Amino acid sequence: GKGAAMVTAVAYRLAAQHAERQSILNTLRLSRAQLLNLKSRMSEEMDRGLSKNAHEQASVKMLPTYVRSTPDGTEHGDFLALDLGGSSFRVLLVRVRSGTRRNVDMHHKIYSIPQETMQGTGEELFNHIVDCIAAFLEYMGMKGASLPLGFTFSFPCHQNRLDQGILLKWTKGFKASGCEGHDVVTLLKDAVRRRQEFDLNFVAVVNDTVGTMMTCGYEDPKCEVGLIVGTGTNVCYMEEMKNIELVEGDRGRMCVNIEWGAFGENGELNDYCTEFDRIVDECSNYPGKQRYEKMISGMYLGEIVRNVLIDFTTKGLLFRGKMSERLKTRGIFETKFLAQIERDRLAMRQVRSILQHLGLTSSTCDDSVLVKEVCSVVARRAAQLCGAGLAAVVDRMRQNRNLNQMSVTVGVDGTLYKTHPHFASIMQETLQDLAPQCQVTFHKSEDGSGKGAALITAVACRVKSEGQH
Ligand code: BGC
Ligand code: MG
Repeated sequence: GKGAAMVTAVAYRLAAQHAERQSILNTLRLSRAQLLNLKSRMSEEMDRGLSKNAHEQASVKMLPTYVRSTPDGTEHGDFLALDLGGSSFRVLLVRVRSGTRRNVDMHHKIYSIPQETMQGTGEELFNHIVDCIAAFLEYMGMKGASLPLGFTFSFPCHQNRLDQGILLKWTKGFKASGCEGHDVVTLLKDAVRRRQEFDLNFVAVVNDTVGTMMTCGYEDPKCEVGLIVGTGTNVCYMEEMKNIELVEGDRGRMCVNIEWGAFGENGELNDYCTEFDRIVDECSNYPGKQRYEKMISGMYLGEIVRNVLIDFTTKGLLFRGKMSERLKTRGIFETKFLAQIERDRLAMRQVRSILQHLGLTSSTCDDSVLVKEVCSVVARRAAQLCGAGLAAVVDRMRQNRNLNQMSVTVGVDGTLYKTHPHFASIMQETLQDLAPQCQVTFHKSEDGSGKGAALITAVACRVKSEGQH
């Protein structure tokens, strides 16, 4: 009868909506073939970044870091470290002990950098940093001390030596004017000079990936890769000097900062990008830049999710088609919500309360299920992309060393990696699948990037004093 026909019509409409949602989500799902392809494109781009001829055009810059020796346990002393470019700015005092009491002990303080300062003038930014250092020295009762300093500066820098870093471009939320193309050590020294209160003794500029690798390397000599999956994403690893054409010399290895976040700037990711990725890119601080990073890191995943939800709502597939002002607000979906929503054993009721907290009040239970699915598809893709890139890196190291099997440790840091309930396992699964000849152990680092800068500074000071004897 009529009733049955209506039920059929409703069932039909629901099935059609379900199919429509899935076909949209499918654009965010990657096949094994696509991941393998990504791995090989990443390797090609790494080759190009290392070569003298192709370096200029390569999206992945493969920056030499001048970090060659790892700590041998004999270094000691007090060091200052600065850590800029992650989710917070920190100043650290690091005490390194040698011998039987070999350990690293540290004090640190977190200082905030207001959005206006991140995006104002370079002079304002570096003045602010120097204010923070002054406050820290005061707080530690160390005013007037001139300790060797390591600067963890988590942006792409061209280096000709350890104590120099020419900023190639800002990434993430930073946009201070007048810095790109300049040596950040000089910018910081100028700010110190303007203040006329104390002196700093700069020894090293270090990327956060390198600091993380060094910190883990202090405990595990097999750690030869550093990975960050936080606000941004990047990897460094130990490369053969003979392959680093930008640096003289063929012996031994040097750590290379891949700057893999920029992968895709030559269109290498065009086949993988969805309309959501394109919107996120266009609305970002740097359209066209850091394309791989924009599909992986914490600063962007929430935005991808939000754009999918907007699309679903517009098409009447979510929130009963009712668009809210909140949903239209950039940045409401922080990484921490993504991680929270995906916690196992979290009841749908709790997902709903997270949505309510985000101001998405009109949600039904079905809506919650769908939002959770969107989060999980977006995070899975990020983890797989990251795993495929890492597969290129470790397989390259294995081939460099002419090994059939290689085991290696990766030092990791970053809030997304550490807080997301599934990111690490999906990434490792992908890596294992795409680089089966490598046995990779992951070592989570605590405060690795700042501590690592101090360790690198300590090694440099040791090597220097050895040279003087
Ligand atoms: C920067 C890298 C950094 C990474 C993680 C990226 O945006 O370009 O230098 O290592 O973020 O902080
Ligand atoms: Mg060379």
